[in-house]
Amino acid sequence: MEIIRARVLGFCFGVRRAVETAENAIAENSDSLKKIFTLGPLVHNPVVMDSLGRCGVQVIDGSSFEMLDKKSVVVIRAHGTTPEIIDSLKERQVQILDATCPKVHLSQKRAKEWSEKGYFVIIAGDKNHGEVVSISSYAKGYCKVIENAGEASDLDLPKNCVLIAQTTFSPVEFEKIKDILVSKNKELVIFNSICSATMERQEALVGLKDKADGIIVIGGKNSANTKRLYETAASICPKTVLIEDAEEIPDSFLGMKKVALTAGASTPDSTIERVELFLKDEK
Ligand code: SF4
Repeated sequence: MEIIRARVLGFCFGVRRAVETAENAIAENSDSLKKIFTLGPLVHNPVVMDSLGRCGVQVIDGSSFEMLDKKSVVVIRAHGTTPEIIDSLKERQVQILDATCPKVHLSQKRAKEWSEKGYFVIIAGDKNHGEVVSISSYAKGYCKVIENAGEASDLDLPKNCVLIAQTTFSPVEFEKIKDILVSKNKELVIFNSICSATMERQEALVGLKDKADGIIVIGGKNSANTKRLYETAASICPKTVLIEDAEEIPDSFLGMKKVALTAGASTPDSTIERVELFLKDEK
């Protein structure tokens, strides 16, 4: 069997950095009594979360801070968090390891600075997504999250406003939202802060069109960017499957001559390698 990897696949820069931050914390504190926590799930990937859990890392949220003390280490995930949560962690004197992705930090900074200048901040994104919650918190309430073009049409814009995108937002929907808002306010300040990581994985996948008998998409079934990769793969190849690890590879793929692999931005190298090895062993 020939296995073709997509040119770009797996962990993005921000997720790799967050996972390495947690792994370094485990290694550095293995002989101490410190307990390591992540503020929310570090990645949308059960393989990574199970592995961290086996090393004693616990997931917490704002409602369970009473379990934190001076001996706690808290990793802030790539999505970032709110200034109020940071203050609350500082009050408890925990060690904070901030793995907020620099691209998310930039959006937080823009939300803060432009709202302080009196600009109404509009965020194109998923209202419940951790990154959007963190960015909007920096605008101190002078902010509105919109999820689609329909909500953009319903929005009344003040004179001064700025548009920011969730880093993993759909580029197509962002363009629609931008056009609607610009038609209402020509002075709108626009930051297209969509991260190239998602697009790079999509483009590399499209480059595999007609090159394989089947495509395997590897990643968490609860990961938005992995699901989007799966949809694109299924649109270019009818024999496409989404799996979280090697044991889920369907038998129908084992007899194929060429299989293409891609993986979401929260899928570790070790899982991709396990899938590749499994396929090679079955050739
Ligand atoms: S997708 Fe982009 S913005 Fe989001 S964590 Fe990865 S590198 Fe950072």
